[in-house]
Amino acid sequence: MQAFGYATHSADSELGPFRFERREPRPQDVAIDILYCGICHSDIHSARNEWGGTTYPFVPGHEIVGRVSAVGAGVTKYKAGDLVGVGCLVDSCRHCQSCSDGLEQYCENGWTGTYNGEDKIGGTRHTVTYGGYSDKITVDQRFVLRIPENLDPAAAAPLLCAGITTYSPLKHWKVGPGQRVGIVGLGGLGHMGVKFAHAMGAHVVMITTSPEKGQDARKLGADDILISKDADAMVNAAGTFDFLLNTIPVGHDTDPYMNLLKRDGTMVIVGAVETLTHTSGVPFIFRRRSMAGSLIGGLPETQEMLDFCGEHNITCDIEMVAMKDVNTAYDRTVAGDVKYRFVIDMSTLGQAATASPTA
Ligand code: NAP
Ligand code: ZN
Ligand code: ZN
Repeated sequence: MQAFGYATHSADSELGPFRFERREPRPQDVAIDILYCGICHSDIHSARNEWGGTTYPFVPGHEIVGRVSAVGAGVTKYKAGDLVGVGCLVDSCRHCQSCSDGLEQYCENGWTGTYNGEDKIGGTRHTVTYGGYSDKITVDQRFVLRIPENLDPAAAAPLLCAGITTYSPLKHWKVGPGQRVGIVGLGGLGHMGVKFAHAMGAHVVMITTSPEKGQDARKLGADDILISKDADAMVNAAGTFDFLLNTIPVGHDTDPYMNLLKRDGTMVIVGAVETLTHTSGVPFIFRRRSMAGSLIGGLPETQEMLDFCGEHNITCDIEMVAMKDVNTAYDRTVAGDVKYRFVIDMSTLGQAATASPTA
C-alpha cells in the first residue's frame, strides 16, 4: 500500500516529504493509521548515521500510536478502531531462548527494528523497514501493543521507547521503597525514569548538568537534585546511591557516577553506545559495584508498562510539533531544549505533502 512520510536521504541532509510502499496486510498483520510519533534521540543518531549502518532513504520513528484501520484474517488480538502502539521492534526470530522468554529485544538471531531493520517477511519493493514518521504502518499482531484508552494518545507515544527503556531496568534491578535512586540526564528517557522510579516508591535524585531543570525535576517526582558539573557536590554524594540509571547520550567518564554508588550498587547504561572511560578497577572493586546495560524491553514487559501507566495515569511531558518542523525539533533535542519529548502530530503531514520525491 502507498504510504507517505518524512525521510532523510543522507547523513547530512534534512528530513523531507517521501512517498513509499508498505506491505499489504497479511493474515497476522494489523494495519494502523498513525496519529502520533515521538522523536527519540536514537532517531537522530540513526538519521545522522552516528552509529553507522543507516540505509537511506531513512524514515525514523519508533514511538508510534495510532488506530487500527484493518486486520488480517488471522488476527485475534485487535480489531478496527483499537488504540494501539508500536515501539522499536516489528519482528524477531520468535523461537530462540530470548524470544521464548518474551525478551525479543535480545533475540539471538537478530530482531527487526521498526526502522532501518531488514523485513524478514519481505513482499514489498523494500526489505528495509520504515518508521513511524508517516501516515500508516503494517505490523504483525505480536509486535503491536494496546494503549490504555484513558491515556492521552499523544503523551503516550514516547512510552513505546522512552517509557519501556527506563521501566525495564528499574523493574529488573527491583527498584522500590527504601532505595535511593539516581536518574542521570533529564531528557526524554530521564524524565520517564524519574516518574517511574517515583511511582515504584524509591527516593529519587535527578542527576543533571542543567541546574535550571531542577524545579521541573521535582514536579516530575524527584526528591532531590544533584548537579553533576558540581565536583564538590558529586564527591559529597559518594557512596549514597543504591541504583543509577544513566541516560547520557554521548561517551563520558563513568568514574564520577560509579563513585556515587553504595556497596553492591549498580549503574545501568541505557544511553551512550560510544566509548565510556574509567580510570581503573577501583570504583568497581571497592564496594563491589556493577555497571550494566539494558536495551528497551520485550513485548510482554512493554504491555505491562503500558498497563502500569494506565493504572497510575502516567504519560510523558511532550511538546507537539508539526511534521514540517521536525528538523528544528532535531536541533533543539540535541541542544537539550525540549520538555521533555517532541511528538509529531501526524495530522499535520498533509501540510507537508507537496514536492514529495518517491522511494
Ligand atoms: P535526550 O532527550 O537528548 O536526553 C539526554 C539528556 O542527557 C539531556 O537532556 C541531558 O540532560 C543529558 N546530556 C546530554 N548531553 C550530555 C553530556 N554531554 N553530558 C552529560 N549529560 C548530557 O535523549 P533521549 O531520547 O533521552 O536518549 C538518551 C540516550 O538513550 C540516547 O543516546 C538514545 O539513543 C539512547 N536510547 C537507548 C535506548 C536503549 O534501549 N538502551 C532506548 C532509547 C534511547 P541534563 O540536561 O539533565 O544533563
Ligand atoms: Zn528510542
Ligand atoms: Zn529470537
